[in-house]
Amino acid sequence: MRSLVTPLRLSTLLALFLLPIVATASSVALDKGWTYRWGDSPRLDDGTPVWLIESDSEEDWKSIDFPSNPPGREANHHVWFRTTLPAGEWRDPILYIYSIDLIAQAYLDGELIYQHGSFDDRGEGPFIGWLWHAISLPEDFAGRQLTFRVYSNYTDIGLWGEVRLMDRPEFFRMILNRSAPDLAVSAFCLLLSLLAGSFALIHRRRQTFAGIGLFSLASGVMILAETQASQLLLDKPLLWNYLAAAGYYALPVGIGLLLEPWFKSHHSRWIRRLWQFHLGYLVLALALALSGIVNLSSTFPVYDLLLAISLPLLFALIAVHLKQLNGEQRLIIAAYGLFGLLLLLDMAVAHGLLPWQRVPVSLGALGFSLAIVAISLRHYAMTQRELVELNQHLERQVEDRTQDLQHMVEQLRAFSYQDPLTGVKNRRHFDEIFAHEAAIARRGSALALIMLDIDHFKHFNDLHGHEAGDAVLIATASLIDEHFREADVVCRLGGEEFVVVMPGATALQANEAVERLLDSMRRQCFLHGGETLGCVSLSCGIASYPAHADDPIELIRLADQALYRAKHRGRDRSETYEPSA
Ligand code: GH3
Ligand code: MG
Ligand code: MG
Repeated sequence: MRSLVTPLRLSTLLALFLLPIVATASSVALDKGWTYRWGDSPRLDDGTPVWLIESDSEEDWKSIDFPSNPPGREANHHVWFRTTLPAGEWRDPILYIYSIDLIAQAYLDGELIYQHGSFDDRGEGPFIGWLWHAISLPEDFAGRQLTFRVYSNYTDIGLWGEVRLMDRPEFFRMILNRSAPDLAVSAFCLLLSLLAGSFALIHRRRQTFAGIGLFSLASGVMILAETQASQLLLDKPLLWNYLAAAGYYALPVGIGLLLEPWFKSHHSRWIRRLWQFHLGYLVLALALALSGIVNLSSTFPVYDLLLAISLPLLFALIAVHLKQLNGEQRLIIAAYGLFGLLLLLDMAVAHGLLPWQRVPVSLGALGFSLAIVAISLRHYAMTQRELVELNQHLERQVEDRTQDLQHMVEQLRAFSYQDPLTGVKNRRHFDEIFAHEAAIARRGSALALIMLDIDHFKHFNDLHGHEAGDAVLIATASLIDEHFREADVVCRLGGEEFVVVMPGATALQANEAVERLLDSMRRQCFLHGGETLGCVSLSCGIASYPAHADDPIELIRLADQALYRAKHRGRDRSETYEPSA
């Protein structure tokens, strides 16, 4: 088989990988050769800053690599930076600045070419947001002087992060390349927050889902707001900064809500205090900034300090009681730990404790979201498995019940065909079995029927009592049963009358069995309650098919006739049907 990676595709892939390198190769970092001067320039009558035109005070400008936080700031809120722009081949050049603390004007030679924020008479102005800057430059900027006038009442002052000369299209490509992963993570977090939020409305573990929802919302909003592409979506830097602040400040509230129910009352109280405190800060900071009492920018360092204390505190609380937590809870804590670490790193970079770099905070949010999704999927799988097991259990139970029921039905049916006193079959059974055997006999086999009746049983009852009569009925029934084959069916027709159906038997065979039975009866001495009852005799009538009848159904009537004759001829005997009689 041919490889899927054809030379053409390979070159396309290579181009894609090399593109960012090519793009940055034609951009020039301005991270050397700057000079700075603390304070603000006096102005001429026409407003021109003197420091832009005077040439006799070069010693006032000190050199610095990067135009940010020069030494010896003291109480200064103003600083000026300048550099000479290098030569190069440019088509649509811009000066890209990652961010500025806090407001600035840019001059090319003496001419104002860019302004971020507004300066009042004293050279001061309000914070209007951190954002990237793409300052248009003329193509012939080589060798010209670029000067920045900066005002900041914030902890940092100057340009921040990156300062580069670039072609405009390459700049946009860079912003989009960098932002794509963050945008994806942010969308993922926001989606998760929507799901968790809806669960929070309906689920029993409301606070857990509210915590996950808030945390995901906060990280999603924060990452989106801090992504460089957000400025392309909507050119409202201060709004993005407010959103970033709200998201950032809400993170500990979300995690606190999530963690609180995991611990016993004593520790959960501490966690509650911690998130409530952060919630208080969130509300207060945003309210003060929105009402113009403080700059939004100055609420960040205070929060950073609070978080630098509360994050390790929270982890200490968790570490002490890690044993109480299950695997899933530990996974969430590990994910949050990674996120927290990245936040602290980002904070350290922001405050100049670490060299400038872009900390992948969104990776932390991604890790956290993936942990939540993994746990949810596991729960889903578990629920599915439990459902299947429950189903199987129910099926087994239904099967057992059905079997019990069938058993019961069989017993009931048996009872309904059985004579309760003697245990032999009853009249209903006789009717069914005789119709069945008659049908079989019609197809060409023999069938014999014997009617049996206890002699003078009324007298017997009168003499010994009804109970003794019952005992005799039971004993007689079992004696009859003993004298016939397995295939023969003994039934009690009612009272002291019995019938025996003998499939395949002739009258002669029936007579032989009956004679043996009568013999036994004669020898049988009945007892009841320790009292001797004496003997009881039977009279029997026999008829058989096809010898005596054209149809087997007539046997009942014919056997009855024979029985009647046995009674008539003195009882304690058997008579076989005779057509002539
Ligand atoms: P015969 O020899 O002509 O058959 O006389 P007999 O007294 O046996 O016949 P009859 O039909 O006059 O009386 C039947 C008696 O059987 C009436 C009743 O007292 C008795 N009997 C019927 N069913 C039962 C029963 O379930 N238990 C008892 N103890 N006696 C019963
Ligand atoms: Mg009778
Ligand atoms: Mg009788």
